[in-house]
Amino acid sequence: MIAPLMPTYARADLAFERGEGAWLTSTDGKKYLDFSGGVAVNALGHAHPALVKALTEQAQKVWHVSNLFRIPEAERLAKRLIEATFADTVFFSNSGAEAIEGAIKTARKYHAVSGHPEKTRIVTFESAFHGRTLATLAAAGVQKYLDGFGAPAPGFDHVKYGDLDAAKKAITPETAAILVEPIQGESGIRVPPPSFLRGLRELCDQHGLLLVLDEVQTGMGRTGKFFAYEWSGIKPDVLGTAKGLGGGFPIGATLATGEAAKGMTAGTHGSTFGGNPLAMAVGNAVLDVILAPGFLERVREHGLLMKQRLAELKDKHPHVIAEIRGEGLLVGVRCVAPQADVIAAAREEGLLTAAAGENVIRLLPPLIVGDFEIAEAVKKLDAACTRVEAAQKETPSNAPARGAA
Ligand SMILES: *Cc1c(COP(=O)(O)O)cnc(C)c1O
Repeated sequence: MIAPLMPTYARADLAFERGEGAWLTSTDGKKYLDFSGGVAVNALGHAHPALVKALTEQAQKVWHVSNLFRIPEAERLAKRLIEATFADTVFFSNSGAEAIEGAIKTARKYHAVSGHPEKTRIVTFESAFHGRTLATLAAAGVQKYLDGFGAPAPGFDHVKYGDLDAAKKAITPETAAILVEPIQGESGIRVPPPSFLRGLRELCDQHGLLLVLDEVQTGMGRTGKFFAYEWSGIKPDVLGTAKGLGGGFPIGATLATGEAAKGMTAGTHGSTFGGNPLAMAVGNAVLDVILAPGFLERVREHGLLMKQRLAELKDKHPHVIAEIRGEGLLVGVRCVAPQADVIAAAREEGLLTAAAGENVIRLLPPLIVGDFEIAEAVKKLDAACTRVEAAQKETPSNAPARGAA
């Protein structure tokens, strides 16, 4: 018999009753340090007073009116996102996949209204993740997610991540845009060479293409800049973001320059829920905190501290941890031991983490995390590594060869 919740997830047998800051309390009363962060969503942790206030105050006024009418809170959030970024205009939706769908549509429409309707193809990158809708799955081109769902949506050319030359060779007269994550999140916190985004920007400029960034995971301060593209000194034409933007309330946003969005006129795109007053009230409250002076600097400092502490753990446990990588508070711990064993051992120690590709576990603490929580997390991960090592000794056939790390 099928489960009441369609069984598309391999869930841990664990549920939570309440949360505060970086901490969650399970329904059986155990406290956990949450470095899974709702998969980079809980940017301000759990039950942040400013978010609770914004949501409950708005809930007393009006929840939803639809986009038949003006929504002042959405206009305000759009203006603030524009002020803080490259963008001139914003479309609000409800998830990361929708934000990227909106970005793809914006890029294609740009060429259509520029007299080049043949320019529809988009260069994308292997092992990317752009969401679970049919178009975003086709954009990423990862076979295991496409299997059994029919012919992939057309119009995407996949090349190796980080390979500028391959991207250049994939450009044809039909190419409209390049779509890329500044750091690949789901596939294992894969950080490309620093020149990669700059190179893609140059390619786009040379060939009249739009540079479209997927900052669903890397955006909203996660890497220590408001958006990760700021690290490279370039600006995109279109950008999709979501996850941290609502701090746990579902919001997606497609940001674009006025030029890139010139085809997006009345009737070309829409979303019933997109930009609804509840979501926008929370989004504005998230921005109040993230854009406050000094906040992102603290994210960078804590990211650095965490990576230093984790590097020490790697040296201490070379048969469990192979590498520490990432930027800001988007941190990947590539494991020698099976990732699932490390995640389970960490959970036993009261630390929640998230899996990613390449046998990496992600540490995605709330951006408000402090020195104490980082020290606690490292202590718990240390204990988890010791557990995994003990298990390796019991079943030596499963242990990696000496020096494998
Ligand atoms: C999570 C994610 C998405 C999809 O977001 P959803 O809200 O699950 O639709 C898209 N792109 C990237 C880079 C992501 O990390």
